[in-house]
Amino acid sequence: MTIFAVYKKLEIMRKRILVTGGAGFIGSHLCERLLNEGHEVFCLDNFFTGNKDNIIPLLKNPYFELVRHDITMPYFVEIDEIYNLACPASPIHYQYDPIQTIKASILGSINVLGIAKRTGATVLQASTSEVYGDPQVHPQVEGYWGNVNPIGLRSCYDEGKRCAETLFMDYHRREGVKVKIIRIFNTYGPNMHPQDGRVVSNFIVQALQGKDLTIYGTGRQTRSFQYVTDLIEGMVRMMERTGDDFTGPVNLGNPGEFTMIELAEKILQLTGSKSKIVFMPLPSDDPTQRKPDISLAKEKLDWKPLVALEDGLRETIAYFRRMDRFNRMDFDMNFGTTVLHVRSCFEGKTEETVADTVKRVANIQS
Ligand code: NAD
Ligand code: UDP
Repeated sequence: MTIFAVYKKLEIMRKRILVTGGAGFIGSHLCERLLNEGHEVFCLDNFFTGNKDNIIPLLKNPYFELVRHDITMPYFVEIDEIYNLACPASPIHYQYDPIQTIKASILGSINVLGIAKRTGATVLQASTSEVYGDPQVHPQVEGYWGNVNPIGLRSCYDEGKRCAETLFMDYHRREGVKVKIIRIFNTYGPNMHPQDGRVVSNFIVQALQGKDLTIYGTGRQTRSFQYVTDLIEGMVRMMERTGDDFTGPVNLGNPGEFTMIELAEKILQLTGSKSKIVFMPLPSDDPTQRKPDISLAKEKLDWKPLVALEDGLRETIAYFRRMDRFNRMDFDMNFGTTVLHVRSCFEGKTEETVADTVKRVANIQS
């Protein structure tokens, strides 16, 4: 085959893919994976919880396009596939503005389903294990309808995601839209926001900074933690390897189940930190147990998670260590514009003015 023929073949195979929430933790890994496979990626984000730093390495790829947009507003694009991830995902972020959270799930779904209906694209919804609420069936199978409080503090997220699933299935049944639904269980890894309040990022940042590790409640509640590369593999298989008649929902998670005490001890051991563990009140409606049954994913996607918790935690700790060092001293400065983007997540900022930065660096160095 001539080089021209190879190039032509690649052009034909290259899809145009929209990733909403593409600058977030999971979205940034997904954009990278899709670009590596030779696709053209449209990363749409309003940067509510996403971070430009997550996607800066992708900007040099001519097949990557960044769109600042809020998915609660209509958006028009000609596209082959859509991964719908736009929604704040950690409890402190989604409870910050619960009305915007539920709009992101519901109006966001209506808007992406509208694009899919018009263009014939397949659309995948990033749903969540939260649709099972505080589950009374353990481990959770897709056929379980859940135990969700409709009026509690977590409801804006849980019920928003449940309604999004309903919208996806109704657009499929009524309008023939090609849909896929995955239910993601707790996922962790590099590019997590260090201040998103989730347990893995909290414990690692606390351990690295020598602060107390904050366990909520007794610490005997359980979660199953999935490393991000395993999730991305499952998402892409769901999109690429299943027929139009297979909508899911499919659980994607790691069935290894740990108490929060076990997680805290593991992180203390892996970081070598001397931090202490302290106990704090349990937030309302905090599920007592969670663990996916992944038989369906095994059968339909030939998928299972490959990364053990300890290995994934090592990678994540290394990422937060780099970030911590970066934040303290040697961040890249780009004086191309008047706004300087610095990785200062440990202080909860993503953008600051040159004047602010100069002042901050002077304080660090003095
Ligand atoms: P994240 O907060 O890092 O990413 C969400 C992204 O969506 C951010 O970049 C944010 O700025 C963007 N966003 C939010 N509202 C938007 C809007 N209205 N318009 C455009 N962009 C918007 O969270 P994540 O962990 O990467 O989660 C991604 C998706 O996966 C979410 O839909 C979440 O519900 C789902 N999920 C994640 C987990 C997990 O453990 N991380 C578990 C279950 C489900
Ligand atoms: N949690 C904790 N300490 C923290 C943050 C969270 O003990 O600093 C607990 C939280 O109460 C929950 C579990 O860890 O029981 C997982 O919390 P996370 O917010 O990561 O995810 P979710 O509750 O959405 O599964």
